[in-house]
Amino acid sequence: MTLRQAQDGAPEPRINVMKPWLGQEEIDAVAAAISSGWVAQGPRVAAFEDAFAEAMQAEHAVATSNCTTALHLALLVAGIGPGADVVVPSFSFIATANAPTYVGANPVFADVDATTGNVTADTIRLALTPKTRAVIVVDQGGVPVDLDPIRSLCDPLGIVVIEDAACGAGSSYRGRPVGSGAELAAWSFHPRKLLTTGEGGMLTTSRPDWAARARRLREHAMSVSAADRQASLLAPAEEYLEVGFNFRMTDVQAAIGLVQLGRLPAIVARRRELVARYIALLDGVPGLRPVRDPSWGTSNFQSFWLEVQGDFPLDRDGVMVALAEAGISARRGIMAAHRQPAYADRQLAWLPITERLTDATLILPVYHEMTEREQDRVVTALLRAAEQPKQAVVA
Ligand SMILES: *Cc1c(COP(=O)(O)O)cnc(C)c1O
Repeated sequence: MTLRQAQDGAPEPRINVMKPWLGQEEIDAVAAAISSGWVAQGPRVAAFEDAFAEAMQAEHAVATSNCTTALHLALLVAGIGPGADVVVPSFSFIATANAPTYVGANPVFADVDATTGNVTADTIRLALTPKTRAVIVVDQGGVPVDLDPIRSLCDPLGIVVIEDAACGAGSSYRGRPVGSGAELAAWSFHPRKLLTTGEGGMLTTSRPDWAARARRLREHAMSVSAADRQASLLAPAEEYLEVGFNFRMTDVQAAIGLVQLGRLPAIVARRRELVARYIALLDGVPGLRPVRDPSWGTSNFQSFWLEVQGDFPLDRDGVMVALAEAGISARRGIMAAHRQPAYADRQLAWLPITERLTDATLILPVYHEMTEREQDRVVTALLRAAEQPKQAVVA
């Protein structure tokens, strides 16, 4: 594989870590939703739920305002509340830890595997307590979590396994879409993920009773949905069966989601192609370890990360600066929730792999419309950084 270098001296445009792939089809779909006069949760949300459930091989899908609210609903329908411990990875976006906190439960941080960045049956086992009622596993950065051993550990103990598949649309586990092996899975449609509706989320579940309750809870726990009331001239009186929420998606978002869902296979294929090319071009550079597919599945590479190891001349922050100087905006690796002020009482948790990965990883730009020339700029900047004398001080 060969690298293309810029020929002229003109400054090149900035390369961002992510760019959603949106086009005229989404614009047309939004225009049609608006023209229909129905912009809140309605027929397009229902159609998006059906299409998403089919694509993810889920029995039921309930659209939500975002993935964080989907996680919140997942815990509520599973009956998790005050007094319960919920095992979560610290190595995740903060919402994974916040969801148990919202329902009055206590997030207990588990460490992750160094190769995948995901929790495993072994790291979860170390975090179990007599009060553990649920575990939230994450397909971090799109890498499928090894779910079967985790279910084998948790199911006999009556511990509910919830999959935070925020990053996972388009990833597979043992030949099936991620999320389909969990009783509850939560998905995100934020633009930093592969399939976007601006903001938006989905809860999928194998249990009809949980789906029905989640559907009600996202809409103030009304006995009759607003869409059903609107459909009837007499607008039947509704009751509020418990304290619910407004976690609804709009039909404008769902219109975008339906188009995006159709684009997902192409998005995943292109990302995997770009990642394979990164790995080939960086092969043989000592001290840079890329995340890869695990043996049990395929990643959509929502976040393609590199671990900057001790034999690379720069540390992770040094590499970030070197990339920034070349007009490339990478991202620090996945955060560690236990180090955040919000969880200040957990800062001494023993999570050595989480701490190593959060300090030593960075996420490289990958987006559907990325050109090979853009990718070559990133690789060139990394190869230049690799040639620096060890411990060179940057900026
Ligand atoms: C993005 C993300 C979330 C939150 O998704 P929102 O749709 O923004 O609420 C939750 N968990 C993980 C692992 C994420 O990456």
